[in-house]
Amino acid sequence: MRIDLHTHSSISDGTDTPAELVLRAQQAGLDVVALTDHDTFAGLDEAVAEGQRLGLTVLRGMELSCSRHGNSVHLLAYGADPAAPALGAEMEKVRGGRMGRLAGVLQRLAELGVPVSEQQVLAEMGNSPSMGRPHIADAMVKAGHVRDRTEAFDRFLADGGPAHVQRYGIEIERGIDLVHEAGGVAVIAHPWGRGRESVLPPDLLRQLAAEHGLDGIEVDHHDHDLETRARLRQLAADLGLLATGSSDYHGTGKLDHDLGSNTTDPAVYHALVARLGVPARG
Ligand code: AMP
Ligand code: FE
Ligand code: FE
Ligand code: ZN
Repeated sequence: MRIDLHTHSSISDGTDTPAELVLRAQQAGLDVVALTDHDTFAGLDEAVAEGQRLGLTVLRGMELSCSRHGNSVHLLAYGADPAAPALGAEMEKVRGGRMGRLAGVLQRLAELGVPVSEQQVLAEMGNSPSMGRPHIADAMVKAGHVRDRTEAFDRFLADGGPAHVQRYGIEIERGIDLVHEAGGVAVIAHPWGRGRESVLPPDLLRQLAAEHGLDGIEVDHHDHDLETRARLRQLAADLGLLATGSSDYHGTGKLDHDLGSNTTDPAVYHALVARLGVPARG
């Protein structure tokens, strides 16, 4: 059984439609795929319907933009009720913050001599309700300023880069609680990727597990080297956390994140599914 629990469609910053993504998941030999678009559930019905048509299990997911002392932390939510009011209100606030920072980013890009217009970015968003830096990067590619998303991030858009503007994120403790109130399972995405270890040290993960019932951490992820994976796997075992693995697929938007390039152990997946739909766990 091959299971990939972290993917993005064109409903956020991936490049496949939800249905295309599910078809590709089947072609990649996956039995289970979770769609986890950033801060939106909008692609899930289409993905689930395509999964039913193809005979592939689609797990409903979402990647919630959280923060810890101003640093961004991503929280994967599985099986959360899209109608849960408090979670929905926070997701809307995050999406508003995503749009709200656009003018500031565009002003910096213009000052840096690589101008793109708001219309160009909106065109790259298509029908995504969740604007992300990758859409700005795509507009920069189209305008001929950079070769690809990677160059746009490396030179301009990455955290701390010359055109980076902070946006709203939910405090991680509250994010976990909101996911649980919505009956979902909460797993921190790529906790130690891209120099994030200082943001989420072992003691904090221990506290999130003990006081907020954090369910799991993503261990096998492209942004973790082998040594990091080994330490995270040991920590998950020590803390009783589920240790997942996933591709973080973004279609053609990210290289080396092919569907199924990292996968979740079936026993972990079954333990995760067993926790779905239990409201207001603490
Ligand atoms: P945002 O959601 O606006 O904070 O932008 C973060 C998103 O940008 C992440 O979800 C990644 O998909 C993407 N991203 C971050 N770094 C890179 C990179 N170097 N190349 C391509 N995409 C990236
Ligand atoms: Fe993304
Ligand atoms: Fe992420
Ligand atoms: Zn992701």
